[in-house]
Amino acid sequence: MTSRIVVGDVEVAVGHWIGGEPSGRGSRTFEVMSPIDGRVLGEVSAGGPTEIDQAVAAARGAFPRWASLGAEGRGKVLDRFAQGILDRKAALSAVETADNGSLLIANLKRVVDRAAHNIAFFSKFARQLTHEAMRGDEVDNRVRHEPAGVAALITPWNAPLMLSTWKVGPALASGNTVVLKPPEWAPLSCSLLAEIAAAAGVPPGVLNVVQGVGAEAGQALIEHPNVDRISFTGSIPTGRRVAGAAATRVTPVSLELGGKSPFLVFADADLDGAATTVAAQFHNAGQVCLAGTRVLVAASIEAEFRQRVLKAAGSYVVGDPRQRGIRVGPLIHPRQFDRVAAFVRRARDAGAVALLGGAPHELGGLYYQPTILGNVKQDAEVVQNEVFGPVLTWQTFESDAEAIDLANGTSYGLAAVVYTRDARRAEAVAAGLVAGTVWVNCYFVRDLEVPFGGSRQSGIGREGGMYSFDFFCDIKNVAVKRDSFEKLGAAQSDG
Ligand code: NAD
Repeated sequence: MTSRIVVGDVEVAVGHWIGGEPSGRGSRTFEVMSPIDGRVLGEVSAGGPTEIDQAVAAARGAFPRWASLGAEGRGKVLDRFAQGILDRKAALSAVETADNGSLLIANLKRVVDRAAHNIAFFSKFARQLTHEAMRGDEVDNRVRHEPAGVAALITPWNAPLMLSTWKVGPALASGNTVVLKPPEWAPLSCSLLAEIAAAAGVPPGVLNVVQGVGAEAGQALIEHPNVDRISFTGSIPTGRRVAGAAATRVTPVSLELGGKSPFLVFADADLDGAATTVAAQFHNAGQVCLAGTRVLVAASIEAEFRQRVLKAAGSYVVGDPRQRGIRVGPLIHPRQFDRVAAFVRRARDAGAVALLGGAPHELGGLYYQPTILGNVKQDAEVVQNEVFGPVLTWQTFESDAEAIDLANGTSYGLAAVVYTRDARRAEAVAAGLVAGTVWVNCYFVRDLEVPFGGSRQSGIGREGGMYSFDFFCDIKNVAVKRDSFEKLGAAQSDG
């Protein structure tokens, strides 16, 4: 039975990576389809409790040695891993595009670099980490970050390579070993990642990848008794399950969930800059958790701003994500396509007006038109719930207070975008927004040292820089009685 498939001219192992080796495909598989043209790319192994158990055992076995290498020892290996990712840029980009429909040019120009940086950054960060010292009245405290053990990492399909490395980097750099469960709609780049890690000298068992569907492999992983951390990125309903399983075993969990982020444009804003950025919300066909999907515009400039947005969005050509000039590729899967189309249909039935798009694209397949829906009320389903497609809503406000009320008026709190030329207004509005990240006059800038995560239903916890290390480590305070060694030493020499 073939254990590799060929995507374009890239060979990808379709088994799991457990203990540094790819497994054979096995008899239980799931089909992987390319959203570009519906072509079946191949059959990938469908893991379950047995494979998860093997992977956790391999990770547990590798943990003591990996942890004892220290940040320097691990850093040498992780830097080679990061370089290995860069060396396979063309392969990773082509496979990710074929698998999830993301733009090839974006993968070549940004995503793979970022994936490598996710590993290299945390490798360096770990080496620079010192034990924080806190002087008390009687004792000297030293705060140590000890690796927790085996980290279970679960990622979604919209950006598997980026999001997996964002978790793998800090988990490994801080001395944990990993079991990664990639998304079943786009599992292939994580298989390449495991192969690159093995070639770079990441020791067997340190990074394990178990392929499979969420309800089987994912569920077995979050319920496994020998897992010390669970870091999950995905939808809110799955997040609830993950949180439930983590609660049962009191396993620390980090949840990065859905978003319905507001995009506020004040009357004093750079309207061209804001319009270009509104159009950028159609990147990855809108399948971006952070996207500012609720455009809130000052009523006094609404008509003018709308013209500029429609002009900017006009340059977003829909089509095959491998071709130059294309800005919006397909949705990932027929189920996602139906979900997006149904959202828009229901919204229009309820009175929403399509200012842009509003229907499947004439190309057919999984291509959907970039869409902006006006005439929507704050309590409308399409305003309140994440669509996860190229669909924005359009509302107006009369005052800063109303803008903040509308922005905060959902159960999400992942991010927000604010466009204004007034620094004081920006500060006040940012302070009033419920969001893990507020971008002012910019969007999607994510420095790796800053905290990242969501408020309300958008998640629990923060990752990034020290926040990742706080999560992936057991934090231990060592309190040493002041001067006790000198006294003890003196007592010994007296005796
Ligand atoms: P999903 O919740 O369906 O799946 C995410 C992952 O969880 C997949 O690997 C899946 O196999 C796994 N899974 C499914 N059921 C499971 C179970 N019972 N136990 C354990 N694992 C299980 O989400 P999705 O549709 O793949 O991704 C889209 C969602 O992810 C959107 O809501 C989006 O906003 C969110 N997302 C959030 C962020 C963030 O950083 N906050 C980033 C990207 C995507």
